[in-house]
Amino acid sequence: MLCAEAGITHSTGSGGCGTLRRFPNRRERLAKIILLVLGLLLAYWILKTFRKRVDKPDRPPQTGAGEDMVRCEHCGIHLPRSESLTTRGHFYCSPEHQRQHVRSD
Ligand SMILES: [Zn+2]
Repeated sequence: MLCAEAGITHSTGSGGCGTLRRFPNRRERLAKIILLVLGLLLAYWILKTFRKRVDKPDRPPQTGAGEDMVRCEHCGIHLPRSESLTTRGHFYCSPEHQRQHVRSD
């Protein structure tokens, strides 16, 4: 009965598991596939949460070539730091927003 495993790993081999190869225990195979999928999902989920936890500390999400992304104080759009305008520690996407925000301050 434990030949099911051999049937999967040695699918080309003809010896040993003749009956199981012709009539694989479908329920057992299905259970194995489900377990495999669940295991993969679990591994994926663990990796995802682990990476999220690792990425989180004091590092905002980065896009582009590792450049810092900043947020326009006026409209909230995200843009690379090098393309932004900075006034007193605030970032803006354009001179217009810079002016408008400073005026409304
Ligand atoms: Zn803006």
